[in-house]
Amino acid sequence: MDKFQQSQKNQLFKTPAHDPYCLPKIEGSAVCPQCGAAYQAGNWTWKVPENTVVHDAQTVTCPACQRTNDNHPAGTLTLSGSFLSAHRNEIINLIENTEKKEKAEHALERIISLTDSEGALVVTTTGIHLANRLGHALKAAFKGHADYQYSDDEFGVSIDWTRDE
Ligand SMILES: [Zn+2]
Repeated sequence: MDKFQQSQKNQLFKTPAHDPYCLPKIEGSAVCPQCGAAYQAGNWTWKVPENTVVHDAQTVTCPACQRTNDNHPAGTLTLSGSFLSAHRNEIINLIENTEKKEKAEHALERIISLTDSEGALVVTTTGIHLANRLGHALKAAFKGHADYQYSDDEFGVSIDWTRDE
């Protein structure tokens, strides 16, 4: 086996990056007992499809509730700077409204927690999508500077947003 073949072989056996919170394929439909999200045809949604007989559906804790229960966020947004302390309420309103919209469209994108940490505000999310959207919403509404860092496996993102007056 030459070098090229060897590398092809390595490619073949390389295990793909795997999201630890991506559930094994669920057969049929399922309902999350914790948040009520429904699983149908590969997606978690808020809408239980009409043809689903809920009592026939399996109960499976959805990946978003699992992450929340484990406090294992996919996205972490850290806000800092003097603008934050002066406009805290407006900023929190924007964050909560952005979550509401994102969560309505994508059942697995939610905020896990909003906590104060040494003058910074830390927002953790169940999905990288919501974290990104929050970063962009902050930038659009309040300018400032946002820095995005993806984890090596691309299943996590941490965003630092800062603005000083
Ligand atoms: Zn759930």
